[in-house]
Amino acid sequence: MDFKLTEEHIMIRDAARDFAKNELLPGVIERDEKQEFPKEQIKKMGELGFLGMMVSPEYGGGGMDTVSYVLAMEEISKIDASASVVMSVNNSLVCWGLDTFGNEEQKQKYLTKLAAGESIGAFCLSEPEAGSDATSQKTTAIEKDDHYVLNGTKNWITNGSTADFYIVIAQTHPEKKHKGINAFIVEKGWDGFEIGPKEQKLGIRGSDTHSLNFNDVKVPKENRIGEDGFGFKFAMKTLSGGRIGIAAQALGIAAGAYELAREYSKVRKAFGTEIMNHQAIAFKLADMHTSIEAARHLVMKAACDKDNGENYDLSGAMAKLFASKTAMDVSVEAVQVHGGNGYVKEYHVERLMRDAKITQIYEGTSEIQKIVISRSILRD
Ligand SMILES: Cc1cc2nc3c(=O)[nH]c(=O)nc-3n(C[C@H](O)[C@H](O)[C@H](O)COP(=O)(O)OP(=O)(O)OC[C@H]3O[C@@H](n4cnc5c(N)ncnc54)[C@H](O)[C@@H]3O)c2cc1C
Repeated sequence: MDFKLTEEHIMIRDAARDFAKNELLPGVIERDEKQEFPKEQIKKMGELGFLGMMVSPEYGGGGMDTVSYVLAMEEISKIDASASVVMSVNNSLVCWGLDTFGNEEQKQKYLTKLAAGESIGAFCLSEPEAGSDATSQKTTAIEKDDHYVLNGTKNWITNGSTADFYIVIAQTHPEKKHKGINAFIVEKGWDGFEIGPKEQKLGIRGSDTHSLNFNDVKVPKENRIGEDGFGFKFAMKTLSGGRIGIAAQALGIAAGAYELAREYSKVRKAFGTEIMNHQAIAFKLADMHTSIEAARHLVMKAACDKDNGENYDLSGAMAKLFASKTAMDVSVEAVQVHGGNGYVKEYHVERLMRDAKITQIYEGTSEIQKIVISRSILRD
């Protein structure tokens, strides 16, 4: 077992760290307050290769491993989890899905632009009646001549109005249940495709979350991903890798909050000494650091499993479950270490605490991760 990062990994981590400090930190409080999408910053992330990190170089991606991706995700998330969710959806759900399961034409037409950051992608699975139970898809895609006719509503879609291309999951053969589901690439602006109002959110407020409506949208048959009926498997396989990205996001939020609390404890004085000299505060920091290290090991294990061609359903679910709980616990404690200052925007930790919560909800809630984990360990 080798716990050392390669020189290339360190370079990528440091590049992400510098970018987050120089480009994302300025204005992060205002973007959160105004629910403003980090448009310019995401454009730069695309130019620097952060939006298609794992895509094969022949399609314009970075050809990097999952370890590099989670290192970059952690650094971006320490500063701006709204930017990192855009990065996560584009990399692990949209690009990875297309790179792994798309055909040559789809890759040339869509993946090359997504990997270069010239276009942004969205992944549309959730519906008003189908969240954790993703098999209950009510959106339909009915075959007609050379196309499918798409009808239905998707909820909570990240990059909802900023995306150019949308991977949409829909039911084609209801009698076949989840085996009748398909995945399609849908372009913004197609007739009958409407974007609903922006959601007003607790956290990751700079990200752009919308419901989407499809009213008789004609989707060419060549835009179906994989064989007829592959859509549910496509979604589950894609989300399994996506969870590693969200685990890294949670780890970054936790680490960001911890670093702020540690530095604050060295300068804030109470009862004639820096608060780090009060054991109650020092022990909080010790607990935070320990949980973060444990979460980091789980995230790295899942990333290595993926890179080594091992099954990562279990390790990815455990990483997401633990890292998201760590993000919640650590960010709450970071606010506590800051006292009254923790409760105001200027000190950043209240935002990180609000941002942390989503990591226990999207790409499978914590309860769903426990279902995945328990099924896996009880299988034999
Ligand atoms: C900000 C944001 C961004 C999102 N981005 C996207 C996106 O880009 N694309 C997308 O497709 N979706 C997205 N989602 C949707 C997200 O994935 C779902 O909200 C999530 O999967 C939970 O589904 P739900 O909201 O319907 O909750 P429900 O499924 O209704 O769950 C409600 C509660 O019941 C629990 N529960 C449900 N079933 C079980 C069970 N069998 N056992 C135990 N407990 C159970 C859940 O864990 C949860 O606590 C996003 C959501 C948010 C809030």
